[in-house]
Amino acid sequence: MVTKVQKVNPEDFSKEELKEACDILKNGGLVAFPTETVYGLGGDALNPFAASKIYKAKGRPSDNPLIVHIADMEDLYKVADGITENGLKLAKTFWPGPLTLIFKKKEIVPSSVTGGLLTVAVRMPAHAVARELIRQSGVYIAAPSANISGRPSPVRAEHVIEDLDGRIDMVIDGGSAGIGIESSIVDVSGADPVILRPGYITKAMLEKVAESVYTDPVIESRVIRKDIAAKAPGMKYRHYAPKGELVIVEGDIQKVTAKINMLAEEKEKKGCKTAVIATNETKDKYKCSIVKSIGSRKHEASIAAGLYDILREMDYLGAQYIYSESFDNDILGGAVMNRMIKAAAYHIVQA
Ligand code: AMP
Ligand code: MG
Repeated sequence: MVTKVQKVNPEDFSKEELKEACDILKNGGLVAFPTETVYGLGGDALNPFAASKIYKAKGRPSDNPLIVHIADMEDLYKVADGITENGLKLAKTFWPGPLTLIFKKKEIVPSSVTGGLLTVAVRMPAHAVARELIRQSGVYIAAPSANISGRPSPVRAEHVIEDLDGRIDMVIDGGSAGIGIESSIVDVSGADPVILRPGYITKAMLEKVAESVYTDPVIESRVIRKDIAAKAPGMKYRHYAPKGELVIVEGDIQKVTAKINMLAEEKEKKGCKTAVIATNETKDKYKCSIVKSIGSRKHEASIAAGLYDILREMDYLGAQYIYSESFDNDILGGAVMNRMIKAAAYHIVQA
């Protein structure tokens, strides 16, 4: 299969430019497209064959359900059942936007899309191209992140091509995805909302709309919790990982720099390709031959946006060992560290 790349300017595009992509979706094919979080790999959510193609293209375990993307509020009632008061309030407040909500599913949603679960994950993206694609094709789009399973999520069309060239029908290249980390996932199928994956929409933001918001204990854990099952099945897999071994070093920043310099020197002396993930503020403090900045500590959104780019860059550089500072600060820190810790397979060192 030849994967077509279609360039589209999200600020200025015509319906005509998305026609071929819409035809592919209507006919059960796969189209990767930009959203405001990361690039998604889309197929018709009500067509079980399209869903099975998504799993195959990504090499994704079939018990890891897909998020159904909709363009308008009335679509929610077509796929979700028993919509709770909190669910509706959160949807009305944060949609379109980077929030995925879990509801009881309607019969028409194939169980292959929900990984056999009786619930369905729904999101209304804010990205102009994503919304037009859903509206114009007339299909709800099941879309996980458009990467090979286990790899860092794609934030540019080039990342999608790297992973999925020849495996999908089309990639719509709309430039960089804005936020750079996946949507927050909140289970609203019960009375009280439960955060299953942290993201740009934080607990504090949710609490302004709904009382008693809980966080699934698995995502707050800094060690592998074999005693409790992850409620978002995807959270149990090793994820977002670069090919090299990633270690996170935590603590007072001066001690962190010293510790990373020591660890990196040990590996470089052994002749191993070693890299450091730093910030604009600290990058000059390292002696390692490869030092990359993820973003600025003064603009934490830049750290979220830089995360997957830098993890992929580590692969281009052939880094065998990667030492990273911790970014557990402010508002987005929880969401960034949730991904970093999984990418590091829970390998955290105290400085
Ligand atoms: P991705 O789009 O690749 O970020 O993956 C979608 C995420 O949504 C995975 O972590 C899934 O486990 C999660 N998810 C999808 N549907 C459900 C559901 N019905 N219940 C809980 N988590 C879900
Ligand atoms: Mg993913």
